[in-house]
Amino acid sequence: MITLSPRVIVVGAGPTGLALAAELAGAGIDVHVLEKRSHKAALSRAFTMEPRTMELLDMRGRVDALLEHGRPCQHPPVGDENGYLDYGLLDTRFAFSLIIPQHRTESVLQEAAAEAGAVIRFGVEVVGLRQDELGVDLDLLGPGGVETARADYVIGCDGVNSTIRSLVRVEFDGWNYEDSVIMGDCRLRNPPVPNAYARITRRGMAAVFPFQDDTYRVIVFDHERMKLPADTPLPLEEVRESCAAILGMDVEPYDPVWLSRFRSSQRHAKKYRVGRVLLAGDAAHTHIPSGGQGLQTGIQDAFNLAWKLRAEIEGWAPEGLLDSYEAERYPIAAETLRKTDISFRFETSTSFVARTIRWVVQKLVRFDWFQRANLEHLSGLTLRYPGRGWVGRRVPDRPVTGGTRLYEHFRDGKFVLIGHSDAPLVPWADRVTSVVLAEPLGRGCPPVVLVRPDGYVAWAGHEVPALNQWCGEPREHVWREA
Ligand SMILES: Cc1cc2nc3c(=O)[nH]c(=O)nc-3n(C[C@H](O)[C@H](O)[C@H](O)COP(=O)(O)OP(=O)(O)OC[C@H]3O[C@@H](n4cnc5c(N)ncnc54)[C@H](O)[C@@H]3O)c2cc1C
Repeated sequence: MITLSPRVIVVGAGPTGLALAAELAGAGIDVHVLEKRSHKAALSRAFTMEPRTMELLDMRGRVDALLEHGRPCQHPPVGDENGYLDYGLLDTRFAFSLIIPQHRTESVLQEAAAEAGAVIRFGVEVVGLRQDELGVDLDLLGPGGVETARADYVIGCDGVNSTIRSLVRVEFDGWNYEDSVIMGDCRLRNPPVPNAYARITRRGMAAVFPFQDDTYRVIVFDHERMKLPADTPLPLEEVRESCAAILGMDVEPYDPVWLSRFRSSQRHAKKYRVGRVLLAGDAAHTHIPSGGQGLQTGIQDAFNLAWKLRAEIEGWAPEGLLDSYEAERYPIAAETLRKTDISFRFETSTSFVARTIRWVVQKLVRFDWFQRANLEHLSGLTLRYPGRGWVGRRVPDRPVTGGTRLYEHFRDGKFVLIGHSDAPLVPWADRVTSVVLAEPLGRGCPPVVLVRPDGYVAWAGHEVPALNQWCGEPREHVWREA
């Protein structure tokens, strides 16, 4: 018997699933999230939120709650006492990396999703899946036993070991790294100054980053211990010794919240869509945490997918829109996998060449061009989709005539048409908001720009374009067709 039948079922209440549910529910789509854990996550894996992720959440009015729980770090270290990046060089309202435990991010996103109307059920595991042309059936194992659910679409946001990915038989190619990494959260009796600090030496790399509550994320790549099997017990004393040997100071860790010695992997799903089932976040791609991109990529997947799915469900999606999710996001993830792999190998190699490059990097870090090149990737601000000129680029936040900010006009998830008039664009007013900017978007940008609900330019030119190419047929037409 089918016990629930929403339009969309999101499997997994990690950051990707919760961000997606908040987006869909915010757009008025009936969405349920199913999570096999019976409780909220209490451990922090990801500990940073980068500027582009904050910008996306800002567009929906959801960033303030995160800022409240996080600690801005404008100058993260790059492995030497004199080497710090300067996020202040970036053109964004969020010119810092936010140090925030993943469980806090998840709480904020969960609240946002629930407030928007998503139903979130904990203690329910998806164990079976069948699909036909009209929908997807799921077998669920919950507190009351076995249930069956049906939805128009199912999104597997169920992490690295995704059940949904296995059930639709999508390969997850890649490899496991041989070296193990030490990570954990604890307090420090003798924290370094400044308190976000890192060093790379011949022995390895160690870094500490302070959370808002004065616990610290500690990360150690210790060449003398990286070959140990990942299940070797990890006493706090070992973390202390490795940190002291690499940082050159005893930070005296105590009160660990969690400590882990783990081997990471790098894997990428062969495809992100099988019929009415799609994959997002770690279920679609996973990589070494170097550079802190996993959570960012998952939330960006959610923003890219949500408005396309909404368009499909509401019946106005132009041909191929939903498939553009994979076409746009796959190369972004592939590039992230490539860059994080290089960065990890570079940070952990003991070769003469790697040591020389690290030395050169420490010298280059004082130049703005070098800083920008690195920050633009880490921050996610230069991430773009295919297109010429401005098309495919992120729109920066700019003042709008009347005293608002451009990003505030994305609150309800519509397209935004930047141009010469802010009069409602009948008959697309249910999908398009019109604004007039108080200052130019950027150098060389044409005066009329159509921006997608996820903040990327769909079209740029001198006249208002034929909107149906991006925003579908106007409402009356959709109704007549239906
Ligand atoms: C040690 C470590 C440190 C990291 N540091 C960073 C960092 O600094 N910055 C960063 O950006 N990223 C970091 N990451 C990566 C980041 O944690 C992940 O990319 C992120 O959690 C992915 O989110 P997700 O929602 O896609 O998947 P997950 O967070 O894994 O969530 C998946 C959810 O699905 C649920 N689930 C699984 N199967 C089922 C099922 N059959 N039915 C119902 N529910 C199911 C799971 O219980 C889980 O809650 C780190 C990862 C690790 C391991």
